[in-house]
Amino acid sequence: MNKKAIALFSGGLDSVLAAKIISDQGIEIHAVNFVMEFASRDIENHKKRITETIRQIGLVPEFIDISKEYLGLLDNPSYGFGANINPCIDCKIFMLKKAKELLPKRNASFVITGEVLGERPMSQRRDALDAIENKSGLKGYLLRPLSAKLLKPTIPEDEGIVNRDGLLDIRGRSRKPQLSLAEKFGIKKFFTPAGGCLLTDPGFSRRLKDLIMYDSVNLDDIRMLKHGRHFRFRNNAKFILGRDKEDNSHILKLRKDGDLMFAPDGYPGPIGILRGSKDSDLVNLSAEILVSYANKKNQDEALVKYWILPQKMERLLAKSAQRKEIENTRI
Ligand code: SF4
Repeated sequence: MNKKAIALFSGGLDSVLAAKIISDQGIEIHAVNFVMEFASRDIENHKKRITETIRQIGLVPEFIDISKEYLGLLDNPSYGFGANINPCIDCKIFMLKKAKELLPKRNASFVITGEVLGERPMSQRRDALDAIENKSGLKGYLLRPLSAKLLKPTIPEDEGIVNRDGLLDIRGRSRKPQLSLAEKFGIKKFFTPAGGCLLTDPGFSRRLKDLIMYDSVNLDDIRMLKHGRHFRFRNNAKFILGRDKEDNSHILKLRKDGDLMFAPDGYPGPIGILRGSKDSDLVNLSAEILVSYANKKNQDEALVKYWILPQKMERLLAKSAQRKEIENTRI
């Protein structure tokens, strides 16, 4: 067994501390972040923040995109979902299986994580930690330095690669021990403990469940869920409307062939997309919703242009939808 470990980084404080504790024992750390589309609304910014966080302990992360494969996890995960659409136990098993595959390629012999016994109700109970270790195929080779003294010794400890005396016995939801360690190590930047995983966000989870129920799911559809207001008209018809300039530009980028586009005609306001069925009732309803969210003060109706590329643009005069009448279509 060599003195090199793969450390899984979420960007949260726990994962940084775990790596720091092991690296201070003279063990080489290869930092990995498994990138998945649900990790953040802005993946590039998320990666930047992770890089900055890890740099504080002298490491550079390797980013490995698992987004496509990850979609399969949402289809009936063995350990079920948390409060939203977060399959936390299956998610951890999946990432650790990926880490196990990486061990020989990076010439490392064990894996470390920042998991803390009892910190999260679903995935950090003792039985969940055991299941994660066993099902990932890393039995004996998964070290959780922050809670290690409360857990069975791992093989790197038994073999004297890691000194168990230098490991910790943190348990539970209090963040005090981690915050004082951060101060001791001079770690100032880290993500909030709850993280930014969109699968734990109730609004995003609702939109994702709707997508899974009515549409086929691909990565661009997932990306679209991060932007705009979403309305479900029918099983086969959905309307998406930008909330600001940034949403509008994402919606334009993520548009698909066959989407019917909507925009205000001659006044500021959002871009919209009608996806699926496009009968005249739905075209009118889409235009009315757009007018109700546009900056058209004191006017009950306004011109809306709509088009499917490469056909020519058409226009219609639409009334402003009453918010309470469209509320039940909002996802
Ligand atoms: S919060 Fe998200 S990233 Fe973290 S374990 Fe759960 S599903 Fe996975």
